[in-house]
Amino acid sequence: MAFNLSDLVEETRLSLQAIADYGDHLFNPTVRLGVTGLSRAGKTVFITALIHGLLRGGRFPVFEAFATGRIARARLEPQPDDAVPRFAYESHVRTLTEQRQWPQSTTDISELRLVIDYQRPNGADRTLTLDIVDYPGEWLLDLPLLTKSYEAWSVESLALSRAGPRARLATEWHAHLATLDPLARADEQATLTSARLFTDYLRACRDERFAMSLLPPGRFLMPGNLAGSPALTFAPLSVPDEATAPNGSLWAMMQRRYEAYKDVVVRPFFRDHFTRLDRQIVLVDALAAFNAGPEALHDLQAALAGILDCFRIGRSTFFSSLLRPRIDRILFAATKADHLHHTSHDRLEAILKRMVERAVSQAEFSRAAVDVVALSAVRATREARVQRGHEQLPSIVGTPAEGEVANGEAFDGATEVATFPGDLPTNLDELFATGAAPDFKGLSHGTADHADYRFLRLRPPRLESSGGDTPYLPHIRLDRALQFLIGDRLQ
Ligand code: GDP
Repeated sequence: MAFNLSDLVEETRLSLQAIADYGDHLFNPTVRLGVTGLSRAGKTVFITALIHGLLRGGRFPVFEAFATGRIARARLEPQPDDAVPRFAYESHVRTLTEQRQWPQSTTDISELRLVIDYQRPNGADRTLTLDIVDYPGEWLLDLPLLTKSYEAWSVESLALSRAGPRARLATEWHAHLATLDPLARADEQATLTSARLFTDYLRACRDERFAMSLLPPGRFLMPGNLAGSPALTFAPLSVPDEATAPNGSLWAMMQRRYEAYKDVVVRPFFRDHFTRLDRQIVLVDALAAFNAGPEALHDLQAALAGILDCFRIGRSTFFSSLLRPRIDRILFAATKADHLHHTSHDRLEAILKRMVERAVSQAEFSRAAVDVVALSAVRATREARVQRGHEQLPSIVGTPAEGEVANGEAFDGATEVATFPGDLPTNLDELFATGAAPDFKGLSHGTADHADYRFLRLRPPRLESSGGDTPYLPHIRLDRALQFLIGDRLQ
């Protein structure tokens, strides 16, 4: 990347921001905790449950400061960043506890400030400010675009769209693409159609049957307040090798908009938000990938590698100093562990660890501690043993969401059922063997009846009120996540 004046101005502005943040931290210790993960990984539910537990006194035996009674109280305070929407905590809690529905998922960045009054182990009273920043993981996958030309991005995106189950989903977009001449005059209507078909293709890849993860540019599926703007209206073209875009051509127009996307969307996000985070949790819905099939699992692994790349601390280019994260703890969390019997929780954790390990070993994490956990922010199931013949099978009991179907039965959203979720694979070498797709069948191969795994969407749990106050939200290992993410800051 070329050195230029605007980078230098940015560098100075960022340094001033860092000094301001540092001063703030000195007098008012603050942790900026990023919560990310791909669409429907469980960010909204995680943040809602975490805040609810801290405000209402949840059951957190592994969160030491809380369990030993050193936390006097936690309270919400006005969110400090004027340009970022507030995380809609109150309405999310009402949806969860009163309507027994899951809250509206993350579509844009949002933030909430929680202030924790606590006592140090030596008895001194202190306050920790926790700023929780919720943002789509898809946005992290845009980082590589900054060093990629429009032409290179086009070639890569087209190659990806011709492989595996993606090819089928890209048929309509490919057919339109074949009618376009990159050297012809710029045509707004052709660009609009191309961008629409390309976005439809990305959306189809994300559908739960395919559960693809690697779908940049991130804002095409998560446009936030930029929906419909030219910076989000472009698509790959089959551009000729070793030529340059003629002035006024369709190619030049797409190229300009691609560059605008980087300037208007990607750089500001990394500069203004990502680089200011101190701690990060990355939520991963591995079970959705198991539902969909081996390609989805493979794709998820590639997306995780992309996400991990953003946390590489030791990159030495000038460009990266603008975007260098200061994050010193990263937790990868496999969510929705309540879909599994507890005997499988460790297995889920081991699978995520394996997916992350490879990427971590390729990265330079000298300054950041990394850990992995399988958790459920809100536990929607309980465990039971169900007699089948002479055997007692470990099963989980929950209420499948309305419209879910299993073994030909459609659920009404009110009936509780016991299911045998199936054992996750134990042979991880086989599961992640390079070169070979893992050997299991998912929804992307046909009907649900032939899939090896079927994790149904469940309704949130019915909460037993012990009279008066809102009851606890049950969870699995949420306290372990809290201990890793902020436990040391409450010492
Ligand atoms: P986001 O897109 O990352 O904000 O994802 P959400 O937090 O909205 O979660 C997406 C969906 O996953 C929810 O609507 C629930 O169906 C499901 N979900 C999330 N967390 C849990 C959990 O802890 N247990 C269960 N059973 N389902 C969950």
